[in-house]
Amino acid sequence: MQVIRGTAEVRQLVRALQRQDRTLGMVPTMGFLHAGHANLIEAAVAESDEAVVTIFVNPTQFGPQEDLSRYPRDLERDLNLCQARGVRWVFVPDTDELYPRGTTGGWTQVCVPETLTRGLCGAWRPGHFIGVATVVAKLFALWQPQRAYFGLKDFQQTAVLRAMVQDLLLPVELRLLPTVREADGLALSSRNVYLSVEERQQSLVLVQALQAGWLASRGPDATPEGILAAARRVLEQEPGWSTQYLELVDADSLEPIETMNRPGVLALAGFIGRTRLIDNVFLGGPAPLDRPAEQAAGSLA
Ligand code: AMP
Repeated sequence: MQVIRGTAEVRQLVRALQRQDRTLGMVPTMGFLHAGHANLIEAAVAESDEAVVTIFVNPTQFGPQEDLSRYPRDLERDLNLCQARGVRWVFVPDTDELYPRGTTGGWTQVCVPETLTRGLCGAWRPGHFIGVATVVAKLFALWQPQRAYFGLKDFQQTAVLRAMVQDLLLPVELRLLPTVREADGLALSSRNVYLSVEERQQSLVLVQALQAGWLASRGPDATPEGILAAARRVLEQEPGWSTQYLELVDADSLEPIETMNRPGVLALAGFIGRTRLIDNVFLGGPAPLDRPAEQAAGSLA
């Protein structure tokens, strides 16, 4: 396994790969890897000739009040996790490699559709998805992977990236994998490390609210109001939690669902203390608290 830091080196590698007609799978991350990332990495290694994991805490997707400077990092542990899974390259660029004209004046960005970004996280994180789409477009341009892997935990992100790939005719297949959870149901996130012992307990309210919403969606008389009310009741019982949004949206358009003619995605975000957490469930799929055993194990070995 090789750690790559410069774009010039990447261009050389990619030319060699293409000469040999070898395929590449890419897993873009911000590091501090956990079993959710590991699941994406394992799929990338299995499905292409070579795999690259990128580790870059992208400044342009953080708002001024957000946790850019304290975002958790542990490169050594991340490299071990990648090596153990057969990753060929880990790309760890400095900001000026990916933003050669800086991030303070004007620079070229991807213009994401307003319809996909006005609700959910987009309403609370202005500019976030422009930053995400722009950095992912750069990584695609540089590495030219055949496949790229993203987690459905960041559901709105996957919708924005699917639209970008279609709209910009990018020659990459997006592979979107289910959310990996702790044994008790909490969705894995690098930000979980911020939680105190008490907050970790309180954080179960997210998956419990999604579970209640999922249960309320069963049966012929389910309504969007009923589903949202069932989830809201659970959230209201946890004083440590404050809700940013709780929405039931169409899985493709992300428009709020008004009649139950399709399952939709129930998504929420909010704070436990200073830590912002998000989660979601596709109401046409398995319950969030009903996971295969191997997923619950979430081994990082
Ligand atoms: P991040 O490092 O948080 O930017 O995440 C990198 C990728 O891992 C994104 O595609 C995330 O959606 C995905 N990811 C993060 N947490 C999970 C999880 N618990 N399950 C599955 N994928 C995840």
